[in-house]
Amino acid sequence: MPDTSTTPFVGGIEAGGTKFVCTVGRGPQTIEDEIRFPTTTPDETLARTVDFFRPWHERSPLAALGIGTFGPADVDSASPRFGHITSTPKPGWRNTDFVGPLRDALDVPIAFDTDVNAAALGEYRWGAAQGLDTFVYLTIGTGIGGGGMVGGTLMHGLVHPEMGHMLLPHDRDADPFEGVCPFHGDCWEGLAAGPALEARWGQPGHTLPEAHEAWDLEAHYIALGLVNLICALSPERLILGGGVMQQAHLFPRVRINVQELLQGYVQDPALTRHIDDYIVPPGLGNQAGMLGAIALALGAVDG
Ligand code: ADP
Ligand code: ZN
Repeated sequence: MPDTSTTPFVGGIEAGGTKFVCTVGRGPQTIEDEIRFPTTTPDETLARTVDFFRPWHERSPLAALGIGTFGPADVDSASPRFGHITSTPKPGWRNTDFVGPLRDALDVPIAFDTDVNAAALGEYRWGAAQGLDTFVYLTIGTGIGGGGMVGGTLMHGLVHPEMGHMLLPHDRDADPFEGVCPFHGDCWEGLAAGPALEARWGQPGHTLPEAHEAWDLEAHYIALGLVNLICALSPERLILGGGVMQQAHLFPRVRINVQELLQGYVQDPALTRHIDDYIVPPGLGNQAGMLGAIALALGAVDG
């Protein structure tokens, strides 16, 4: 979908636990301005956010604002706590009203969803999920987070998916590492996100050579989670982003592990001869989250 001058002018916030990225524009070809700053206290961070958008809004009014946020967060627009960060372990942010101060300052429609649902929507509109109605977007970085669509609708449900906290088989003889999730220890994120790699091997992922045994184990854990997603949701594609997936050699290893674990049970050419098009990096690269926030905002304008 090209972004033409008839596309509304909107704002997007990619709200991460370590940094915020705020942008204004209409889509991938027309980002007019962008600012990045660290996520500090809610008061300071939201004030900087307003300081970025307000002058733009006065000059060329924003039709809506889209927020893709770290979480957990209340993304249910019918809930009294809609727009709040909820049970996050991030210091200072628990039970923070995120949307309220922005609505007070800017008075525009605001779409508020998880960072991964935002990225999924960006991929749907402009990236690797175009034309699909059931797919998953995963980030494997500081944590593991997943979002996406089922039947053309972003997944929300009871709260929102927490795919990174799935529990997986963990062979403690082969891998005695306890896991680093503060809630579950050896959930998917606890075993396979960037901090787990670093804690298990004593060095950050980007310093581990391709031949290191870390990567076969990593591919195995990533594949275990993907197989569960394939069996639970029957996605038409799995899009894998985040810092750890910068290791491009992981993709072929993960695909082979997925095939071995499925044992031919789920039958579709997507999982056999077309698997290179089934487990893929984001079409929007590392801009999926930022553009996803713009896509969320465009959705809020459309109604
Ligand atoms: P965030 O999850 O905070 O948005 P990233 O997706 O960049 O940020 O994830 C950061 C995590 O990914 C860190 O644990 C880091 O060690 C790891 N990481 C970042 N780049 C690489 C890389 N090239 N190879 C392996 N691990 C990486
Ligand atoms: Zn967990």
